[in-house]
Amino acid sequence: MSEINTNFKEIIHKIDEAKKRSGRDADKATLITVTKTIDTKRIKEAIDSGAKILGENRVQEIMEKYDELSPYAEFHLIGHLQKNKVKYIIGKVSLIHSVESLDLAGEIDKRAKQNGIIQRILIEVNVSGEESKFGIKPEEVISFVDEASKFQNVKIEGLMTVAPFDAEEEELRRIFRELKNLSLQVKDCGFDNVSMDELSMGMTGDFEIAIEEGATMVRVGTGIFGKRNYV
Ligand SMILES: *Cc1c(COP(=O)(O)O)cnc(C)c1O
Repeated sequence: MSEINTNFKEIIHKIDEAKKRSGRDADKATLITVTKTIDTKRIKEAIDSGAKILGENRVQEIMEKYDELSPYAEFHLIGHLQKNKVKYIIGKVSLIHSVESLDLAGEIDKRAKQNGIIQRILIEVNVSGEESKFGIKPEEVISFVDEASKFQNVKIEGLMTVAPFDAEEEELRRIFRELKNLSLQVKDCGFDNVSMDELSMGMTGDFEIAIEEGATMVRVGTGIFGKRNYV
């Protein structure tokens, strides 16, 4: 068995254990295998191990890998998306995790319409308030979703956040809980065209805590492929 295969199985096992611990056995906690900077040969090992969804943070990398890997797995965009690059990924990514402006949502809507599809998206929230992080402010979430839900060719399916790398467990729990609470608040608003079924939170260092706090999608790269050359 390859190291990637062993690591992959270990992560799946830890996801199941975290679900059990938190009484969420019946819930889904989907693994997004984060493949940024990883070459297609190694990604195929992950696919052979069971990876079904690949998370990339750069449009360019999705374009380079798409033809070779798309017969075997779906792509999600998990990183910052520039408006002028939306046209390259529409129809290629089944979910965009990182929508954080109405301008961007509008561009996605326009391109989706041209392609005759409904693009599934998540709204990125900067819960920790770190300057370096993308995402809208927690207090803006409800009005943002209200506005973005008016775009007919996007479907808002939930929220996403990136927690600080170096935070203590209690701080991480507070951040994940806040995202969960925000999603419940949005759900209560009953906006048309919004489901709030997905909470994308948790990475290699904190995905078990995220699942305990309600994550339905975790994004794990290093835990499967080892350390990248850059973060
Ligand atoms: C790189 C990245 C991840 C995965 O991080 P790891 O620590 O390698 O698991 C998850 N989410 C986003 C948005 C990323 O850019």
